Amino acid sequence: MCERAIRPAKRFWWTTLSMPTIKLATCLSAGRNSQRPDQIKHIYMNLIELEKFLKGQPSFRARQVKAAIFKNLIESWDEASPLPKDLRESLKKNFSLEITGAVMESKDKKTIKAAIKLEDGEIIESVLLKHNDGRNTVCLSSQVGCPLGCRFCLTGKMGFIRNLEFFEILIPLLFFARHLKKSEEKITNIVFMGMGEPLLNYDEVIDAIRTINDENGFNIGARKISISTVGIIEGIKKLAREKMQINLAISLHAPNDSLRSQIIPFNQSHPLKNLLKTVSYYIEKTNRRVMIEYLMIKGINDKPELAFELVNLLKDSLGKLFFVNLIKYNATGDYQPSDQKDIENFKRILEKNGVPVVERYRFGENIKAACGQLAGDCRRVRFRDEN
Ligand code: SF4
Repeated sequence: MCERAIRPAKRFWWTTLSMPTIKLATCLSAGRNSQRPDQIKHIYMNLIELEKFLKGQPSFRARQVKAAIFKNLIESWDEASPLPKDLRESLKKNFSLEITGAVMESKDKKTIKAAIKLEDGEIIESVLLKHNDGRNTVCLSSQVGCPLGCRFCLTGKMGFIRNLEFFEILIPLLFFARHLKKSEEKITNIVFMGMGEPLLNYDEVIDAIRTINDENGFNIGARKISISTVGIIEGIKKLAREKMQINLAISLHAPNDSLRSQIIPFNQSHPLKNLLKTVSYYIEKTNRRVMIEYLMIKGINDKPELAFELVNLLKDSLGKLFFVNLIKYNATGDYQPSDQKDIENFKRILEKNGVPVVERYRFGENIKAACGQLAGDCRRVRFRDEN
């Protein structure tokens, strides 16, 4: 699934990310973990090691360092002026602030996809969506690959590689925050809809959210943060008890078990009845509206009778505190997006039957930046000195 279509096929290399000069124009084949060990000369944005490193310092230093990285968005330790010079020098020698990866931009420039290389050579993808109303949403990944293998999802096809640590989840956010800083803009919203099932990496995702939320971190309000799940029951229950005002989105995509199990194999052992009972518990406990995500996939889940079935299912199980997001699928080899007239018809049936519904604008069609479509493309990019 190479992205050759989006730019002329000129070679483009991984490098320290520095927008907007970098554009990923072509995918070249190279294996996973292809970075040579001697390329890593420092601990790469590893906040756990950084915390250990600061142990002998007065306690306020850790706060200053955190604020320098996430609030002031420094790109060199020289910019961290509140820190003493000797500490800055020592940090410079041991902790790189560089972010390595590549980016590609959609034709309308509203969507930027970044592929970030982690310390062990694994690659995660993330997307910045620039809305017309001034909001800037970043879609974050929680795992490298995903174990759930949803049929319509490119990440699912990769299989599961590993969970991300909380600071790795934050690296793409830091990259986009630095990028937006140049035009005096900020990230306003976060969605965990990138690679991986966030509730299968619960603790790291929650730790990342705490830094996103923290006033010495990104200082983004919990109400601006959404987690999308295919339906991890224990995770939803834990989230209901967190006392965080984050938003929950359920990737439903089908109104009955037989269809849902076809496209989401996880549903075979976790049927809709259990999922919706848990979502109902979440609503009761938090009194927050839940988003029901429904990808519109041509000939699979877009028939009018399925819209009626969805109405009955949701009204019977969830009461009133929910709304449906219809999302036109971005084409992959196996599935195609629904025709616009079928989406409108589906939407009309929901509306007429009292189900709140919006059709979400489809971002980044030409760079496959939609939910469940972040995947292996950028893992095949070759590094400059591997040539
Ligand atoms: S849609 Fe989400 S849960 Fe399903 S395979 Fe893709 S990343 Fe995993």
